[in-house]
Amino acid sequence: MKTLIKAIPLLMASIGFASSALAGVHWGYEGSELPENWAQLSPEYQMCSLGKNQSPVDITGTIKAQIGELDAHYGQTSGTIVNNGHTVQITEKNPNDYLIVNGEKYNLIQFHFHAPSENKINGKSYPMEGHFVHANENGDLLVMAVMFDEGTENTSAEQLLSLLSEQENKPTSFENINIASFLPKDKSYYRFSGSLTTPPCSEGVTWIVLKNPMTLSKSEIDKFAHAFKHHNNRPIQPLNGRIIISNE
Ligand SMILES: [Zn+2]
Repeated sequence: MKTLIKAIPLLMASIGFASSALAGVHWGYEGSELPENWAQLSPEYQMCSLGKNQSPVDITGTIKAQIGELDAHYGQTSGTIVNNGHTVQITEKNPNDYLIVNGEKYNLIQFHFHAPSENKINGKSYPMEGHFVHANENGDLLVMAVMFDEGTENTSAEQLLSLLSEQENKPTSFENINIASFLPKDKSYYRFSGSLTTPPCSEGVTWIVLKNPMTLSKSEIDKFAHAFKHHNNRPIQPLNGRIIISNE
């Protein structure tokens, strides 16, 4: 539980509680609140322009290294789904899904979606990107990103979308949905250091981007896009000498 308590303030700031009384200044993707202006909206958001290890990035010039396979323990989960005004977010009730990366355990706390994708792979953008936000017992964050192409429907996405309220900030509960179905069988990945892609753009986040995309049907992508109302992807940020490692 220690993990979650430490990670929660950061996560709340990152996922759109800014519009409530809980946290800072409102931000968005359009008009005067667009990403290029985030750092000017509040001193708390200064990393959005001062940071040198910002996300998202275009994944190019990768270096192969023996960093081991990704060990994902995802299964049936219960929780809530909400349109928080920035994204559609799923939060686990009793976090019991986790990843083992380099022998370190990271518990899944929440996941959410961006359309189009935020990261690119060799210049290629995808219709959607899922961000699975994890924390280890020290509260260090790790985001595992999964790209989505248009194609076959995803049954778990269908189940979740059917429960999504039309109203913003109105969470609905769900029980026993299999979230392993959001992950490809082949979990080859890229790894690099980055930041939250939303204010306060905090750095020190480990990013794992899976190489193999999954699919969502056109209707599922349209439902997400309808909930977002507009694109919710921060523009690509400079690598500034960062190295992107490929696990094979
Ligand atoms: Zn995200």
